[in-house]
Amino acid sequence: MLSRPDVVSPVRRGHEQAVLGLLRGHGPLNRGEISRRCGLSRTTLHDTLRGLLATGAVVTAVPDEGPRGRGRPAEKLTLNTSVGQALGIDFARRAVHVAAVGVTYELVGSAGEAHAPGLPWPDRVALAERLVRGLAGAEPWRRALRGVGVGVVGPLTGARDGTLSGVGTLLGERFGGPVLLDNNTRLAALAESTWGAAAGDQDVLYLRLSYGVGGGVVAGGVLHRGADGVSGEIGHIPVDPAGRPCECGGTGCLETVASIRAVLDAYRARGGHGDDLPALAAAVAAGDPIARGLLRDVGTQIGRVLAALSNAIGPRVIVIGGELAQIGDPLLGPVREALNAGAVPISRHRLTLRRAALGDAAGALGAVALALGDSPLLSRYPAAEPDSGPAGADRNGGVAVRPRLALTF
Ligand SMILES: [Zn+2]
Repeated sequence: MLSRPDVVSPVRRGHEQAVLGLLRGHGPLNRGEISRRCGLSRTTLHDTLRGLLATGAVVTAVPDEGPRGRGRPAEKLTLNTSVGQALGIDFARRAVHVAAVGVTYELVGSAGEAHAPGLPWPDRVALAERLVRGLAGAEPWRRALRGVGVGVVGPLTGARDGTLSGVGTLLGERFGGPVLLDNNTRLAALAESTWGAAAGDQDVLYLRLSYGVGGGVVAGGVLHRGADGVSGEIGHIPVDPAGRPCECGGTGCLETVASIRAVLDAYRARGGHGDDLPALAAAVAAGDPIARGLLRDVGTQIGRVLAALSNAIGPRVIVIGGELAQIGDPLLGPVREALNAGAVPISRHRLTLRRAALGDAAGALGAVALALGDSPLLSRYPAAEPDSGPAGADRNGGVAVRPRLALTF
């Protein structure tokens, strides 16, 4: 098990983030320059830098070799790009995905691994830990960790919900740093709106078609959480009053029609042969009329829901992600047709439907953005309560800099 980082106070953490923000923005600086720019007292700055040097977050750019002669440049301090800034973990229904960024906001990497449905939480956390270790490697990376963002399935009314409280505590023990929990699909919407298919767009509706069906809303340039964290539960909009029972207790929800399992069940019920998504995709590619007819029906149902939501919310861009969306036009064509048929005339030809760009890592990347906390998309997002961690979250201690990830997907 990984050890916890040194306990630091929220005030100290704020000072550290301020210095890291300066070095991120200005490049290497000497102590005098840092002092002038951040306004910390000499003693406070001394303690702050000592802490950052001890964790390895900051290193000396010019080694201090013996007594300084006349004209010798003062020792510069710079960010150590090999240490951690934030981790994101997405606990999806059947997989765990992780992503990490360093102190300069560069993407250290992302990774994921599928698991059987219903895997116990301790095993899922252990899987996450193994994936993070593969990405970030050695212990020093973790010692400068600013936070861990965690995506989980379902709405969260508070960070301390039931089982998740224990999960947050466990994650805090394993990784250290404040742990922030949120709905994983909404975090995927955040990532797609920050670095992905809808980067820079102000009004975005995101839909993910996976083993579950969910989504997220960006309205007026900010991520929408909604009362009780319910915003984005698109999968539980009823589409068939005579349909199948849904996990949520409802009947005929979109998820009972458009989740991977639902689509595969319907395919077999119609006489198709295929037990998994690749088999269905192969059948579609081969022109199987059962598969194509099914995807047309499912796509139409999805498009009608998106049209209704568009008329209520007014997005400019709709992003569709998840494994099912990878089937492409045989599904998305009917989605687009039904969307255009149902959207009010003024938005009909202005709405853009796009495939998601970040793949399976979207939820974990959104969790990274949540942990960093300085995206404009989160500027009016209710502050998530830290579930655990040595010092509590210090969401306002850092310098407000938009994350700049160099994504390599
Ligand atoms: Zn439901």
